[in-house]
Amino acid sequence: MIRRDPEQAVSRAHDLIVIGAGIYGVAMTLEAARRGLRVVLVERDDFGGATSWNSLRILHGGLRYLQTLDLPRFFDSVVERRWFCRHFPELVAPLPCLMPLYGRGMKRPSVFNVALKMNDALSFRRNAGVASDPPPRGRVLSAQQTLDRYPAAPRDGLQGGGLWYDVVMPNPQRVLIEMLHWACAAGASALNYKRRGASRGGRRGAGNRGPGPHQRPNGAARCTGGVQLHRPLVAGAWRTIRSGSAEPV
Ligand SMILES: Cc1cc2nc3c(=O)[nH]c(=O)nc-3n(C[C@H](O)[C@H](O)[C@H](O)COP(=O)(O)OP(=O)(O)OC[C@H]3O[C@@H](n4cnc5c(N)ncnc54)[C@H](O)[C@@H]3O)c2cc1C
Repeated sequence: MIRRDPEQAVSRAHDLIVIGAGIYGVAMTLEAARRGLRVVLVERDDFGGATSWNSLRILHGGLRYLQTLDLPRFFDSVVERRWFCRHFPELVAPLPCLMPLYGRGMKRPSVFNVALKMNDALSFRRNAGVASDPPPRGRVLSAQQTLDRYPAAPRDGLQGGGLWYDVVMPNPQRVLIEMLHWACAAGASALNYKRRGASRGGRRGAGNRGPGPHQRPNGAARCTGGVQLHRPLVAGAWRTIRSGSAEPV
């Protein structure tokens, strides 16, 4: 059950307030709760209703980061994707991706072949413990095989196609809400239709714009309880709050 209890949220001291219940905010809340922190998640709208709902729903496997040899990010992607595949096998599926290859640069078949082999070698444990359909290995197709799969590809100079598999999560809201359930089961509180406001004296809390016992005299939102904000974490494109700033957003 997602515990939504504004009274309790303002009357209880928290180690952490997470602002914004997109996928990052929910994941932070879950991790914090699992580590034993008292955490409250504040969302001004619907849980997961902003960018996380509007994304392309792809769980990237890290291939793109090999272009720049950004190996830390590559490994992060592999591990994170595996986490989602392990925990939500019924909500993910392999997603074939095809890139027509032309020219003599990075996008020629020989280079792409090396990239795909590196990708497979470096992520050889990417499907460990994954019960769902595991994404197959990538490979380079001939020009004709590429056209068979993607007839609209421009033929002039076509040398082949790079085929690899990412993972798609068609229903990210279900995943996000499930993670939020886990976070609440681990002790987190979550409030939607609340927005983070500023309070006097440099203390900040979660508030709303509706009338109620937590309303400031001027009508702006704030919490009057003992919510302590040790480390503000703001998710999403609205990341305008800096640590130590008392400005409302
Ligand atoms: C078009 C598009 C497609 C994408 N496709 C992919 C993809 O396929 N794969 C992938 O991995 N990534 C993709 N991304 C990136 C990915 O969607 C984002 O990185 C991710 O969803 C961002 O999550 P978030 O939690 O940071 O932000 P959000 O999901 O936007 O959540 C932020 C939340 O903060 C809330 N909020 C803001 N201010 C306040 C406040 N003052 N008080 C309370 N709440 C507040 C908002 O209401 C919102 O719900 C895509 C991005 C875009 C734009």
